[in-house]
Amino acid sequence: MNDFPLPVRAERSNPLARVFDELIDFCRARSMFMLHYCTGCGAIELPPAMTSRFDMERLGIQPMVTPRQADILLITGYVSIKTLKRVILTYEQMGSPKYVIGICSCTVNGGMYWQSYATAKKLNEYLPVDVYIAGCMPRPEAVIEGLRKLMGEIKAGRANSWERYFREYDRYLAAQQNLFGPNWQTPTDIIGEARDYQLYGPGTEGRHTELLQQHQVPLQPLRMTLHSDVEKSS
Ligand code: SF4
Repeated sequence: MNDFPLPVRAERSNPLARVFDELIDFCRARSMFMLHYCTGCGAIELPPAMTSRFDMERLGIQPMVTPRQADILLITGYVSIKTLKRVILTYEQMGSPKYVIGICSCTVNGGMYWQSYATAKKLNEYLPVDVYIAGCMPRPEAVIEGLRKLMGEIKAGRANSWERYFREYDRYLAAQQNLFGPNWQTPTDIIGEARDYQLYGPGTEGRHTELLQQHQVPLQPLRMTLHSDVEKSS
């Protein structure tokens, strides 16, 4: 699957709006909340990167425990097929704009698990990845360098891979269905979100979203039952 570069965001003609866009990008790049999904052994390099030795907080990056308030999803090593489902669910819960960093060679091409039946080989077939940090395992300096690269891309208005998930949802869904089976579904309405963000494109819907709509079960509100209600009904 080729990830051709998306166009850089068009500059607005109003000079005041341009300054405002640049200011937003600058602020966004200097205040990043990172959800570190510790999928594999590469996660062991994160504690030194985050704490006093390398102190990534001085760059404006700090950990966040929930996807809904995070900007960056950090995938720290090999991703088993079971784990990938959770990674995709997590990614879809994050608000946009959002960024994915794949740490370790295992996220690039499967690494030492390239022949394993139980791991997903190329993370960018299932999610748009902004930065890869290769190595087995990459040192904290490399992790920080990768984060700095992402900061530079955000500041320059070029970190727009997240748009790809909306514009080309059908091909991401195709890879997901290929791995998880035709009944795969998540609770998120990606097509609706693509329309909301005005990112609906020719690749948003296709053969695979049609298949999804055929078997998709609408989400039901969670019914909470008190213990006494259960006793009365029995
Ligand atoms: S690249 Fe090496 S350290 Fe990283 S997840 Fe794979 S095996 Fe583990």
